[in-house]
Amino acid sequence: MRCDVVVLGAGIVGISVALHLQARGRSVVLLDRRGAAEETSFGNAGLIQREGVYPYGFPHDFGALFRYGLNRTIDAYYHPSALLDLAPFLWKYWHHSRRKRHARIAKLYSRLIEHCVTEHDALAGAAGATELLRRTGWLRVFRTERERDLRYAEAAAWRAEFGINFSKLNNKELQEKEPHLAPVLVGALHWTDPVSVTDPQGLALAYLRLFESRGGRFLQGNAASLEQDQKNWTIRTIDGPLQAGAAVVALGPWADVVTRALGYHLPLAVKRGYHMHYRAAGKATLNHPILDTERGYMLAPMQRGIRLTTGAEFALRDAIRTPVQLGRAEPLARELFPLAERLDNEPWMGARPCTPDMLPIIGKAPRHANLWFAFGHAHHGLTLGPVTGRLIGEMVAGETPFVDPAPYRPERF
Ligand SMILES: Cc1cc2nc3c(=O)[nH]c(=O)nc-3n(C[C@H](O)[C@H](O)[C@H](O)COP(=O)(O)OP(=O)(O)OC[C@H]3O[C@@H](n4cnc5c(N)ncnc54)[C@H](O)[C@@H]3O)c2cc1C
Repeated sequence: MRCDVVVLGAGIVGISVALHLQARGRSVVLLDRRGAAEETSFGNAGLIQREGVYPYGFPHDFGALFRYGLNRTIDAYYHPSALLDLAPFLWKYWHHSRRKRHARIAKLYSRLIEHCVTEHDALAGAAGATELLRRTGWLRVFRTERERDLRYAEAAAWRAEFGINFSKLNNKELQEKEPHLAPVLVGALHWTDPVSVTDPQGLALAYLRLFESRGGRFLQGNAASLEQDQKNWTIRTIDGPLQAGAAVVALGPWADVVTRALGYHLPLAVKRGYHMHYRAAGKATLNHPILDTERGYMLAPMQRGIRLTTGAEFALRDAIRTPVQLGRAEPLARELFPLAERLDNEPWMGARPCTPDMLPIIGKAPRHANLWFAFGHAHHGLTLGPVTGRLIGEMVAGETPFVDPAPYRPERF
């Protein structure tokens, strides 16, 4: 078998890359060892975060560091046994999260983020999947005036610098929007630009169907079998060997499986996270995704039920699952919103693919011809999948990229 380009990894990033390459006349094979969007792109919180101009940084104030150090919070948890391995990554992450550096990174990041909704709209429109997009924005709800005022000030600064919209909701306005939340909140910040997805895997599969309906092929195989053979790439699939003129690594948290074998030592790590679905008790409804800011978990209304997602777990990617944060969040979530029984047998776990400078890796591999990288999207892979797809499509086709790709190039490491 032969194709122009093989895209390794059929998460939201790989599927979006495949669609954009195909739109530029390339014959494309999308390859995964499992079904499409069955890993990280399956179970996220479903936010297309138009407001997410500041990638999530490492805390710098001593109070937060002390709390995280005790390892009792909900928003972050770590495996003590992983700390030695993670130390070099965490050190760089901490360095890049310093105030001035973080602000510079946000400027570069915002250039990708500003296109996230329009690029999803383009794909979802073509895929007939716009009914999966909900245009209600999302709510950061507050239990304390101190946190509320800090976040309002931050939002005002982002509005001034990046033109992002929000509104402030007092206690009464919040109750009108979300009548089933317990009256323990002092208000909310309503991000009005973001879009939320009621079934993130469903959206990715709709994009995959569009790709296939336009003649694209989805095959199963192991990306680790990738080899360069003179000018071509070869890879083993369950349908036999495949030759491709170019390859795109879009393996999310598993990118290193290919990049290491090719001699690239990129500083990648993961922040794992969990989800569980619940039935809403009685006739209770949740109209927006909400972040319980001080407690650090999210509740999002999904097709399958109310999805509770957890924050960052610092652990080795393949370490045993430890849904400690879910166990801590669930009783608090039940106090905030009337959740009935769990709907999943086991908590789901995903691994956010992270870089220490919080920017994704998008661009040409420095030392191999016809090899491209598209991974490291951390908390915003759903948000930035289609933007990344378009960038890679344009670069591979030799077009002028719609966003300057220089800040995301792999050789910065
Ligand atoms: C709890 C949680 C909540 C989140 N919430 C949000 C959110 O609200 N908004 C947002 O934008 N992002 C969110 N994210 C992040 C987002 O889900 C990820 O950034 C995104 O899914 C990454 O997509 P990807 O395509 O790079 O990786 P993946 O979806 O993981 O895809 C990688 C693919 O590679 C395949 N693969 C792995 N190894 C091999 C191999 N050897 N051979 C072949 N194939 C292989 C896998 O099977 C997989 O399909 C969240 C993440 C978590 C964990």
